[in-house]
Formats: sequence, C-alpha cells, structure tokens
Amino acid sequence: MNQFLSRRTFILIPIMSILKIIFKPMKVLASSIASKEKWNFSNEEWKSRLSPESYYILREEGTERAFSSQLNNEKRKGVFHCAGCDLSLFLSDQKYDSGTGWPSFWDSIPGSVETKVDFKLIVPRTEYHCSRCGGHQGHVFNDGPQPTGKRYCNNGLALKFVPE
Ligand SMILES: [Zn+2]
Repeated sequence: MNQFLSRRTFILIPIMSILKIIFKPMKVLASSIASKEKWNFSNEEWKSRLSPESYYILREEGTERAFSSQLNNEKRKGVFHCAGCDLSLFLSDQKYDSGTGWPSFWDSIPGSVETKVDFKLIVPRTEYHCSRCGGHQGHVFNDGPQPTGKRYCNNGLALKFVPE
C-alpha cells in the first residue's frame, strides 16, 4: 500500500506542475479580457465620461497642439495614468525632455500599452493605446534615449498625473 501511494505521488506531482504551467497563462489572459470588456463603452458613454478635448485624443486618435500640455513640464515624482480608465502607463522615472512639446517617455510600464501602425501622415507611424480601454495615447518612435532608444510621444490630454 505504502509503495503504491508513494508511486502515485511520484507520478502526480510532475503532472500537476505541468498542468499549472499550461493553465496559468490562460487564467491571466481570461482576466485581462474580462477587464477589457468592462471598458468597452459606446461613443456616447465615452463622451459623457470625458472632456471634449480628451475624447478627441483618446477616442478619435487626435493630437493636441505642441507645448499645450502642462504635463510637458511636469518634473515631480509620480505615475502617469490613462485619462480614460486610470490604468498606470508611465513612471516619472521614464519621462524625459524630448524638446518636441509633448510629454515624452523612453519606456512604458510593462503591459500597459499596445501598438498598431497607422498611415494618417502617409508615412507609417506606430500608434500606441492603453491596453485596458483602448484609448489612443500617442506615437512611439525609435529616436529616444538609451537604454530603450524609444520615444513615446504622448498627448498630455490623454494622461492624468498622480504625484507620489
Ligand atoms: Zn485606459
């Protein structure tokens, strides 16, 4: 009997750990889809939640005028959140002065933004948006500082700064 038990345990443990590896990512994926659905509002609902300026940026992929955002000069320690759903997108440590007139970051918080290519200016650009509510944030270029070499050029109207 004892021998049977220990043998069974011996077989079960590796099977369980393999199952855990297989099912864990599926669970994470399912929960991120669920939270996305929660933020899947109609245009009318978004209009009632956002200022007209932020609606234009976040939901119509607009771009604010350069040097128009106070966040361009924001130098305090803190976190930049999505103005649509409040997800944390950038840390103040990832911000730098690009001289372009838009709040710029050399990296984003892992998993916070997703990208797609747009052709609004004919030349393809990489648009990025909040991974939770899909709100447009800005464009990412490859002329940023090290260590990433990236420049996330963000609309201030799409962000909300929360000082530390
Ligand atoms: Zn968002």
